[in-house]
This record gives sequence, C-alpha cells and structure tokens, in this order.
Amino acid sequence: MINFVKKKMQFLTFCLFIYLFFISSLSAQEISIKIKIISQNRINIEGNFKNESASITNWFFLQNYADVSNLANRVENLQFSDEKGNTVALRKINEGNFVTNQKPISFKYQVNLTPSAKLTDSTHVSWLTENQGLLMLHDLLPKFEKANLVQVNFELPKSWKIASTEISNNQNYNLKNTENGVFFVGDNFREKTIQIEKTNVNFVFSGSWQFSDDEAAEMANSILGEHKSVFKEFPTDKIQINLLPFPQENSNPERWRAETRGSTATIISGSLPFKTQAVQRLHEQLRHELFHLWIPNGVNLSGNYDWFFEGFTIYQALRTGVELNQIRFDDFLNTLSQAARMEQMMSETNNFSLIQASENRWSGSSNFIYSKGLAVAFLCDAALLREKHNLKDIFRQVWNKHRFPAQIQDGNTAIINILKTFPELRPIVQKFIEGKEKIEWKKELNAVGIEQENSDFGIQLKVMTNPSGRQKDLLDKLGYNQWRKFGQKKK
Ligand SMILES: [Zn+2]
Repeated sequence: MINFVKKKMQFLTFCLFIYLFFISSLSAQEISIKIKIISQNRINIEGNFKNESASITNWFFLQNYADVSNLANRVENLQFSDEKGNTVALRKINEGNFVTNQKPISFKYQVNLTPSAKLTDSTHVSWLTENQGLLMLHDLLPKFEKANLVQVNFELPKSWKIASTEISNNQNYNLKNTENGVFFVGDNFREKTIQIEKTNVNFVFSGSWQFSDDEAAEMANSILGEHKSVFKEFPTDKIQINLLPFPQENSNPERWRAETRGSTATIISGSLPFKTQAVQRLHEQLRHELFHLWIPNGVNLSGNYDWFFEGFTIYQALRTGVELNQIRFDDFLNTLSQAARMEQMMSETNNFSLIQASENRWSGSSNFIYSKGLAVAFLCDAALLREKHNLKDIFRQVWNKHRFPAQIQDGNTAIINILKTFPELRPIVQKFIEGKEKIEWKKELNAVGIEQENSDFGIQLKVMTNPSGRQKDLLDKLGYNQWRKFGQKKK
C-alpha cells in the first residue's frame, strides 16, 4: 500500500514536472528579436512581445560602456506599434531613454554600426563592416527588466556565418542574459575547436598572424589547463576566443585591446611582424583574458572591485607566464618594478585607496588600479608563501564561495573578508587596499630573496646575490627556477 502511494506520488510529481516544464517553456520566451544586416554598416532590429503584459513603457538603450560613450546616438528611426499595427507615440527623455504612452507589442529601429574612430572601442561595443561584424546585444537591445527569456534570430547576407557560445536551435538563440550575448558574424573567418575535458573551446580567427591557428589553439589549451589547476574546475562548458584585427584603419601593430564578456574573450589587435614577439603577446593576452572567465565572470559579485579582478589577474597571469616558461623570472621582476615605479609616481597625485580608485577605473584611474593592484597582489603572495599558503588559495576560496549560482554579494566586502581570514594579509589589506598608504615592501621583498635598487631610472627589483636557504626556497616557489624544470622535462 505504502509502495503504491509512493509510486503514484512519483508519477504525479513527474506529471507535474512535465506540466510545469510545458507551461514555462510556453511562457518563457517573452520577446523575439530579429536582427538583420541591411548594409555594410547598419542593422535593422525588430522586436515582438509575446503579449502586452511582457512589454514596457520606459525604454533604455545603453549610453556608456567601459571608456566608450554616446552609444545610444547610433539608434535611428525608433518606432513602436500596438497590436493592430498602429503607431505608439514616444517621448525622448534624454539620450537613450524613451517613454511610450502605452505598452507597445512591437518595436523597430536601425543601428549605425560604423566602427568608432577610437580604435579600442571596437573591443567593447558592436560594429559592422562589409565582411564581418561583432554584435554584442548589451549595446544593441533596449533593457528588458521583466523578460526572462529573449529569442534572437539573425538574418545575414548569404555565405555569412555566426560564431557564439550561445546555443542555437535552428538559427534561433534563446538567451536568459542578453547582456552577455556576443556574436561574431562574417563570411571569411576561420574556426578551430578544441575539447578540454568537458569544455568546448572555439577559437575564431580573422586576419593573418605570425603564428598558426593550431599554435594559438595549443596556447589556449595550456593556459586554460594551468588556470584550471588554480580553481580545480572549468568555469563553463563553452568558451569562445575571438582573435581579430581592428575593423578600423590601423597602422600601429603595437595597439591592442581585449575584453572577456560572459564566456567569450575578444582580442582585437595589431599584428606584430616577428613571430617571437607575436607569440609572446598572444600568450600575454590569453593568460590575462582567460583568467577572467573565472574571475570576475564566473562569480556572482557586484560593484567595483577592479583592484582585485584586474590587479590580481595581472599578477596571476604573470605568474602563469613564468610557470609555463613563457617569460623569464627577470621579466616577472621587470613588470613588478615597472608597476612599483608607476605606483610611486601616481601616489604623489592620487589620494585614493584602491577601493575608491576602482569606482573611477574608466575615468583616469585604470593605471593606478593596475599598477598598485599588481604590487599588492605580489605582496599578498609573498606574505602567504612565507606562511606555507599561496595566492591560489585565495582565488580558489573566492571561486568556491561565490561561483554561480551563489547569491549576489558586494565584491569588495566578499574579497576583503576572504583576504582577512589570513592573519598575514590583514596589515596589507588595511594599509594598501582599504588605506591610502604608498607601497612599502622592502622587508617583504627581502624575506623572499628580492632586493630593490633605486637608480636614476627608478625602482628596479632583482634577485639577491647570496640568498639564504629559506630565501632560495621562497624564490623557487615564486618560479625563480621554473626554466630549469622545463629544461629537465624536455630531456
Ligand atoms: Zn582584465
């Protein structure tokens, strides 16, 4: 009898589950969007709400993102219609903000996607040229507060393809989070897919580079493996890396800018003429960007804690470079010296703590955040190593505690709490992260076998001539003898 009831219950639960599933898949797709390329620099966007209750009257288009502004000015011929196809009147409140006098059932507009005159903008916002385009929904679609599922469909010129981490069903992409939707489209790009455990990594290449597509994919493979050893798991099962030339005229091969959004890393770069340099730089770009797949993209932390997710990422990327024998220990020290020089210079005029500066990353504080953040990350690592811990413990804790689907928390509070669980880090947090003190690290440097020289060129770090056994041991942990290990492995 009991068994019977139990079985029946299971069946009921199962039915209920199917029923709920059915209902939710019916109601979920509240907006369908059609994006059509209509010329070499314009797209047409049409949207339809499933019903009026899913619609809105207050419309916001993204106006500023990173160091790019006036984005909403690219929107042209915005029109709204009701169920019968009649025009719904709209009022412009200010740039990017419109109000309609009733909830429209559909809307339509064009976006001018001529690449901006400022080279680096093309990494952060959508653009289109005659043979390819980067379409990022965050700056293309208005903000839908209530929508829990948006279906996006593309109409592209014949022979064009789409590359995206979003999952498609007959060319229809269902997105829960349009802010992270990145689509690379074009008729002349190459793809190289690798599988690392359960994670599918798709490398998209446009343009020509000094390294082969296979070499680049192998590089991503080894870097992702190294980063995974920090966190013990991959952040997602689908990763895309876009390596593209600037869509604008660019005569400077040194220029590049990268951004990792959701699980897509986009690197837009000039092409260096010599292979060694080109390989070195791609490695540097990938080390940093791919780390962002975990931190901050994989954790549910809010607010401006850029000093951590940029400063500490730069440091960890440097350590990874040494670890993989891509850069020498001297390069590691040179970068730290450079950061220290910049920090010293900027601290003269900058009377902010790292936390305060992080609020103004895109309005002049980025160099300060990068250089001081990097120096502080090194200080933390050195202090942790002396206590038989290391910075990987911090990253792993941040990941384990805050990876999705954890509850959203304030990034600064969450990270500081974790750092402060290590007594050796408390003075560093108080002085250099929460406080405004200038970096003073001679004692910490000496403890790990590094000394600081102050020449005419400023601060220069170097390994001590006669380090003690303990110092040698800590230098080793920082990667000082990493190249020897590689030498041995090759034999
Ligand atoms: Zn970064």
